[in-house]
Amino acid sequence: MTDMVSAVRRSQIMARIKGMDTVPEIMVRRVLHRMGYRFRLHVSELPGKPDIVMPRHKLVVLVNGCFWHGHKCSDGHRPKSNTEYWIRKLDRNIVRDKQTKRLLRKKGWRVVTIWTCQCREKNKIESIIHKAVKTA
Ligand SMILES: [Zn+2]
Repeated sequence: MTDMVSAVRRSQIMARIKGMDTVPEIMVRRVLHRMGYRFRLHVSELPGKPDIVMPRHKLVVLVNGCFWHGHKCSDGHRPKSNTEYWIRKLDRNIVRDKQTKRLLRKKGWRVVTIWTCQCREKNKIESIIHKAVKTA
Protein backbone atom coordinates (compact mmCIF):
# COMPACT_ATOMS: atom_id res chain seq x y z
CA MET A 1 0.00 0.00 0.00
CA THR A 2 3.03 2.26 0.36
CA ASP A 3 2.93 3.37 -3.24
CA MET A 4 -0.62 4.67 -3.01
CA VAL A 5 -0.38 6.72 0.14
CA SER A 6 0.52 10.36 -0.06
CA ALA A 7 3.42 11.84 1.88
CA VAL A 8 1.01 13.47 4.33
CA ARG A 9 -0.82 10.27 4.99
CA ARG A 10 2.45 8.42 5.39
CA SER A 11 3.57 10.92 8.01
CA GLN A 12 0.26 10.38 9.81
CA ILE A 13 0.74 6.65 9.73
CA MET A 14 4.26 6.92 11.08
CA ALA A 15 3.13 9.32 13.80
CA ARG A 16 0.44 6.88 14.80
CA ILE A 17 2.91 4.05 15.00
CA LYS A 18 5.38 6.04 17.05
CA GLY A 19 2.69 7.75 19.10
CA MET A 20 3.98 11.14 18.07
CA ASP A 21 2.03 14.29 17.44
CA THR A 22 0.96 14.71 13.84
CA VAL A 23 1.68 17.78 11.77
CA PRO A 24 -2.03 18.78 11.60
CA GLU A 25 -2.27 18.53 15.38
CA ILE A 26 0.69 20.84 15.80
CA MET A 27 -0.88 23.26 13.29
CA VAL A 28 -4.11 23.38 15.28
CA ARG A 29 -2.20 23.98 18.51
CA ARG A 30 -0.27 26.80 16.91
CA VAL A 31 -3.47 28.46 15.69
CA LEU A 32 -5.12 28.10 19.12
CA HIS A 33 -2.07 29.56 20.76
CA ARG A 34 -2.04 32.52 18.41
CA MET A 35 -5.76 33.08 19.02
CA GLY A 36 -4.90 33.35 22.70
CA TYR A 37 -6.71 30.24 23.90
CA ARG A 38 -5.54 28.09 26.75
CA PHE A 39 -5.63 24.37 26.22
CA ARG A 40 -4.44 21.08 27.64
CA LEU A 41 -2.95 18.21 25.70
CA HIS A 42 -3.61 14.47 25.78
CA VAL A 43 -6.06 14.60 28.66
CA SER A 44 -6.16 11.08 30.00
CA GLU A 45 -9.03 11.71 32.46
CA LEU A 46 -11.43 12.21 29.57
CA PRO A 47 -12.94 9.53 27.30
CA GLY A 48 -10.71 8.81 24.33
CA LYS A 49 -7.80 10.77 25.83
CA PRO A 50 -8.49 13.76 23.57
CA ASP A 51 -5.47 15.50 22.06
CA ILE A 52 -6.62 19.06 22.69
CA VAL A 53 -8.98 20.22 25.42
CA MET A 54 -10.08 23.78 26.15
CA PRO A 55 -11.33 23.60 29.76
CA ARG A 56 -12.52 27.19 29.98
CA HIS A 57 -14.82 26.66 27.01
CA LYS A 58 -15.75 23.12 27.91
CA LEU A 59 -14.62 22.22 24.43
CA VAL A 60 -12.79 19.18 23.14
CA VAL A 61 -10.96 19.59 19.84
CA LEU A 62 -10.40 16.37 17.92
CA VAL A 63 -7.88 16.47 15.11
CA ASN A 64 -8.86 13.49 13.03
CA GLY A 65 -6.95 11.96 10.16
CA CYS A 66 -9.31 11.71 7.17
CA PHE A 67 -8.11 8.24 6.30
CA TRP A 68 -8.23 6.69 9.78
CA HIS A 69 -11.48 8.29 10.86
CA GLY A 70 -13.40 7.99 7.61
CA HIS A 71 -13.86 11.55 6.44
CA LYS A 72 -16.01 11.91 3.33
CA CYS A 73 -13.29 13.61 1.33
CA SER A 74 -10.69 12.50 -1.19
CA ASP A 75 -8.18 11.75 1.58
CA GLY A 76 -10.70 9.44 3.21
CA HIS A 77 -10.81 6.94 0.34
CA ARG A 78 -10.26 3.39 1.43
CA PRO A 79 -7.57 1.18 -0.07
CA LYS A 80 -8.62 -0.96 -3.01
CA SER A 81 -6.64 -3.95 -1.83
CA ASN A 82 -7.09 -5.90 1.40
CA THR A 83 -10.58 -4.46 1.39
CA GLU A 84 -12.08 -6.56 4.15
CA TYR A 85 -9.23 -5.85 6.52
CA TRP A 86 -9.56 -2.13 6.00
CA ILE A 87 -13.35 -2.08 6.21
CA ARG A 88 -13.21 -3.85 9.55
CA LYS A 89 -10.40 -1.73 10.91
CA LEU A 90 -11.70 1.62 9.76
CA ASP A 91 -15.33 0.91 10.66
CA ARG A 92 -14.14 0.08 14.15
CA ASN A 93 -12.46 3.47 14.37
CA ILE A 94 -15.65 5.22 13.30
CA VAL A 95 -17.73 3.36 15.88
CA ARG A 96 -15.18 4.17 18.57
CA ASP A 97 -15.21 7.85 17.58
CA LYS A 98 -18.98 7.97 17.92
CA GLN A 99 -18.87 6.35 21.36
CA THR A 100 -16.14 8.69 22.54
CA LYS A 101 -18.07 11.76 21.40
CA ARG A 102 -21.22 10.52 23.10
CA LEU A 103 -19.36 9.96 26.38
CA LEU A 104 -17.75 13.38 26.23
CA ARG A 105 -21.10 15.08 25.59
CA LYS A 106 -22.64 13.16 28.47
CA LYS A 107 -19.97 14.64 30.71
CA GLY A 108 -20.94 18.10 29.52
CA TRP A 109 -18.22 18.65 26.95
CA ARG A 110 -18.81 19.99 23.50
CA VAL A 111 -16.81 18.35 20.74
CA VAL A 112 -15.49 19.84 17.54
CA THR A 113 -13.75 17.74 14.93
CA ILE A 114 -11.09 19.23 12.71
CA TRP A 115 -10.17 17.00 9.79
CA THR A 116 -6.62 16.88 8.58
CA CYS A 117 -7.76 18.01 5.12
CA GLN A 118 -8.98 21.21 6.80
CA CYS A 119 -5.57 21.80 8.35
CA ARG A 120 -3.94 22.93 5.14
CA GLU A 121 -5.10 26.49 5.74
CA LYS A 122 -4.64 28.32 9.01
CA ASN A 123 -7.70 30.47 8.24
CA LYS A 124 -9.85 27.38 7.98
CA ILE A 125 -8.69 26.10 11.37
CA GLU A 126 -9.25 29.53 12.86
CA SER A 127 -12.82 29.79 11.59
CA ILE A 128 -13.72 26.30 12.84
CA ILE A 129 -12.39 27.10 16.32
CA HIS A 130 -14.00 30.50 16.32
CA LYS A 131 -17.39 29.06 15.45
CA ALA A 132 -17.08 26.26 18.00
CA VAL A 133 -16.18 28.67 20.80
CA LYS A 134 -18.94 31.11 19.87
CA THR A 135 -21.70 28.49 19.95
CA ALA A 136 -20.95 27.79 23.60
ZN1 LIG B 1 -10.94 15.09 4.91
